[in-house]
Amino acid sequence: MLFQKILIANRGEIALRIQRACRELGIPTVAVHSTADATAMHVRLADESVCIGPPAARDSYLNMAAILSAATITGADAVHPGYGFLSENASFAEMVEAHGLTFIGPSSAHIRMMGDKIAAKTAMASLGVPLVPGSPGAVADLDEARAVSARIQYPVLIKAAAGGGGRGMRVAGSEDKLEEAWSQARTEARAAFGNDAVYIEKYLDRPRHIEMQVLADSHGGVVHFGERDCSLQRRHQKVLEEAGSPALDAAARDALGETVTAALMKLGYRNAGTLEFLYQDGQFAFIEMNTRLQVEHPVTEMVCGVDLVREQIRIAAGQRLGYTQADVSFVGHAIECRINAEDPVTFVPDPGRVTAFHAPGGLGVRVDSALYAGYVVPPYYDSLIAKLIVHAPTRAEAIARMRRSLAEFAVLGIKTTLPLHQRIIEDPSFQAGDYTIHWLEHFMAAQAAE
Ligand code: ADP
Repeated sequence: MLFQKILIANRGEIALRIQRACRELGIPTVAVHSTADATAMHVRLADESVCIGPPAARDSYLNMAAILSAATITGADAVHPGYGFLSENASFAEMVEAHGLTFIGPSSAHIRMMGDKIAAKTAMASLGVPLVPGSPGAVADLDEARAVSARIQYPVLIKAAAGGGGRGMRVAGSEDKLEEAWSQARTEARAAFGNDAVYIEKYLDRPRHIEMQVLADSHGGVVHFGERDCSLQRRHQKVLEEAGSPALDAAARDALGETVTAALMKLGYRNAGTLEFLYQDGQFAFIEMNTRLQVEHPVTEMVCGVDLVREQIRIAAGQRLGYTQADVSFVGHAIECRINAEDPVTFVPDPGRVTAFHAPGGLGVRVDSALYAGYVVPPYYDSLIAKLIVHAPTRAEAIARMRRSLAEFAVLGIKTTLPLHQRIIEDPSFQAGDYTIHWLEHFMAAQAAE
């Protein structure tokens, strides 16, 4: 047995996703939940559940003491953090280990290093990974910001060292805009992360967001599972993802994969990780590393035929990967649409009761969701309610499969972003795979103007 019992420190679709992997491995699970989530699907399907506090995330899903108490009283010997919440909190990983439990993720030292985006860039540069041109470290004051920006040339992007979720980022198109962007980025960083350290990067005008999925065991085995193209974003947040990228061929994927696996091998990294890059004019430039499972991991699972959560659990238990890069193959094409409980035009969250729910199915269709008819989407958490993933032999067939799956998907009683996805996949530029990180904002502006 890999573990006796795994506590899943999360909610919603990802808590279910992890539960499913545990169940297939024969490992009992403990769900934790806030008072707002007492009837949630991840609680209903768990072997055991513990209420860890009131609705606000800081009092429940971010409440380390309550989560550790839940693990102790239920006899769990490992904790899976999912994504978001405490998944990239190095102190939490340390506390889990200090309680004699296994944290299903990387070492706290690597979580801490990559959580500081300046330290992450410094580390990756020393490991031979190419970076976006920018300041070598934190930028102390406006004078230094001016000097750096003049050197790398406008437009520049001011980014929070502790950043995440697209917050604490401001573009300055020219020197006269720098002061305003500088103070806005710092204010937002302080408010969001309690840390106003910022750095500066060249603002790329037409990159794609391409990221590499990696698994590493504690015996020196490191394997990559190819790339995901996450260029379709709104406010720097991903909306639709694909594996592989319409912009990469196998040679480009192999080359990036080699750079990334060599770097993580030298770093002594363990468990799942994703390196994010901007790709423009045939050049890759590292922007950050996520030391956890990603929301969009299913597209990789579909094309590689791997269960990434199962692998995370096996690695955490000390097992070897048991395969090499040559054993990883890429079959067909996968697309994921993130369905949010939001107005599809204004993006205002629309929590409330789901009066009817029908998920699509059939060959090559996967729905990761914790919804059910009668469920009340609470207003307290992220508005992601479902991920619709399709897999098909070619990209064109995947788009056709996504079209018919979106048409079958029924979520009544609340507004969702299903109609937005239906419009995106009908667009000729999307169908041609011809888009950058700025494409979706232009697309939505054009639609609004019609
Ligand atoms: P976060 O951790 O907040 O998600 P990231 O560094 O991952 O921040 O960047 C999020 C997104 O912001 C990227 O996917 C990309 O769309 C955009 N972005 C980040 N850095 C740059 C840059 N130098 N030039 C242009 N866009 C950028």
